[in-house]
Amino acid sequence: MITVAIDGPAGVGKSSVSKELARRYGLAYLDTGAMYRACAWWCLHEGIDLDAETPDEQRIITTVGAFFTDDHFDISVDPDHPVVTCDGEDISEAIRSAEVSAHVSVVSGILPVRSILIAAQRAFIAREASAESHSGGEGIVAEGRDITTVVAPEAQVRVLLTAREEVREARRAGQAADSGAHVGADDVAKRDAMDAKVTNFTTAADGVVTIDNSDMTLEQTIDAIAKLVED
Ligand code: C5P
Repeated sequence: MITVAIDGPAGVGKSSVSKELARRYGLAYLDTGAMYRACAWWCLHEGIDLDAETPDEQRIITTVGAFFTDDHFDISVDPDHPVVTCDGEDISEAIRSAEVSAHVSVVSGILPVRSILIAAQRAFIAREASAESHSGGEGIVAEGRDITTVVAPEAQVRVLLTAREEVREARRAGQAADSGAHVGADDVAKRDAMDAKVTNFTTAADGVVTIDNSDMTLEQTIDAIAKLVED
């Protein structure tokens, strides 16, 4: 049983790297950003004004709490089908919309919201240690902003992926173009600035290996982390 924790800013390639690592080692894959995005999507769906000068935090906390306790939300940890659903409906594409990208940091910046998601993420990680899980007990690759430091500081492999801002902007723009009309522009710099207020994904904590992949291919990044897994 192994836990691989990967953190980093938007556009650094965390998802592609994490999915491929999970496939390579038969592990589960958890995209924690997708969980925060699903919460933002749900708040918008429930009619909460996330553009308000002072968004209604109490309502956001209650709404996100109900999203989990009333079992609206589900996420598949299969790296080949990382589908996010709400009441059984596939919202994987909807949570990547420009509207969700623009509002997700408002939701993820509320500490009690983070507590709900951190608990849920730890439960997914613990579940993958059991034989009945997707990975059959082999373990999980979890990626986000606070996995190496808060969600799973005990992970055997902890990596902070970084890349120069212009490289990340270009990768993000490429992803948006590849995904078609439903995915809009994403102001990566603005989102990173907001996210940095509540999570530390710019400097590596003790024991976390930093990999700057600005000048590396996807394969090279995966191989660098695979080396840590095999050591
Ligand atoms: O990874 P992705 O860019 O899809 O994440 C979307 C948003 O989710 C981030 O901008 C951040 O606000 C939030 N997030 C977070 N903590 C994590 C993962 C994502 O706050 N562990």
